[in-house]
Amino acid sequence: MQALTSLISTSVSDHPARVTLSGTYYDASSSRAFDVLMHLEADGTLRVESVEINRVAQMSECPLSDPLGRMARHFTLPDGARLEITDVDSLANWEREQGRSSGMHLVHLMETRWRWVSAAVIFLLGFMAAGYIWGLPIAAKHVALRLPPKIATITTDQARYLFTKMLDLKDSKVPAKRRQKIGAKFLEMAAAMDPGSKHNYRLEFFDAKFPNAFALPDGLVCITDELIEKAKNNKEVYGVLAHEIVHVREQHGLRSVLQNSAVFLIWTLMTGDISTVAGMGSALPAMLAQSGYSRGFEQEADFGAADYMIKVGWGTKPLSDILQRIDPEHHLGDAEEALSSHPLTGNRVKTLEDYERSKRK
Ligand SMILES: [Zn+2]
Repeated sequence: MQALTSLISTSVSDHPARVTLSGTYYDASSSRAFDVLMHLEADGTLRVESVEINRVAQMSECPLSDPLGRMARHFTLPDGARLEITDVDSLANWEREQGRSSGMHLVHLMETRWRWVSAAVIFLLGFMAAGYIWGLPIAAKHVALRLPPKIATITTDQARYLFTKMLDLKDSKVPAKRRQKIGAKFLEMAAAMDPGSKHNYRLEFFDAKFPNAFALPDGLVCITDELIEKAKNNKEVYGVLAHEIVHVREQHGLRSVLQNSAVFLIWTLMTGDISTVAGMGSALPAMLAQSGYSRGFEQEADFGAADYMIKVGWGTKPLSDILQRIDPEHHLGDAEEALSSHPLTGNRVKTLEDYERSKRK
């Protein structure tokens, strides 16, 4: 026995790729079992040795069973004899060293380490869910508020063009004098609500087929004649504009787009190159049109508008009133629906009232 051991160790050092394993040999004809040593040689030869057995075969002619948990694996020799290996770890190491792969390693790993793997999978899913719910909006805000202004400008120009076509926007027919008055108030509100802003706040009036207003990333707010016609007074218009100013200040548009394209966002964070967003320039306006705002963003815009309106002594009623007035006929087409920032009016009015009451306490 001593002689055999030293023979093996010598052979191993001469041929680093060689491995010797113990196993059980089942004779094809008699099914008798023999304890054997097997040598897996670097040249692809399989040698089986014991006192009774001495066989040589080519491994390419001896299929090896796939790993399945910690179950023993076996080579099948050309004449049907089987060679069983219980030391599956050493065999797997040898396969790795040989660059052999049974293609079952993941399954093997999961079967042998299933407790560990299922814990890891649960952790990963939890981590991803948390990342999606909390991490993604935070990351989107971080990126959106730090984008170079040029990107907001390009996006706005293209989105404005796109919306003009999509929504068939025409030149406003509201008298110039009234437009001037509303426009001046809009700038005054923007300066008060977003002091020291980097955004280029400006208001445009359009003739459309529906009452609406929307904000674009660089500070352009658009309002339709139909919304102004629905308003009983300018304060109601200002309430809507205050809401849109918050959308710009908080960059809800770009944040929606970024949140809705998480893969792209993760790529930006990984590469640390925020300027690559510029490459998305052509896609952003279309995405902006499709993404709409989340209910959370709408509420933030309502509350931001309410803060201003309460502060200047108007209260939130003008905004609530116009929301309710435009709601019943607010059944818009797809493109318009996407742009509409006024869903679920009933809830919003109630929430606005509750908010104002809490602020006045
Ligand atoms: Zn809105």
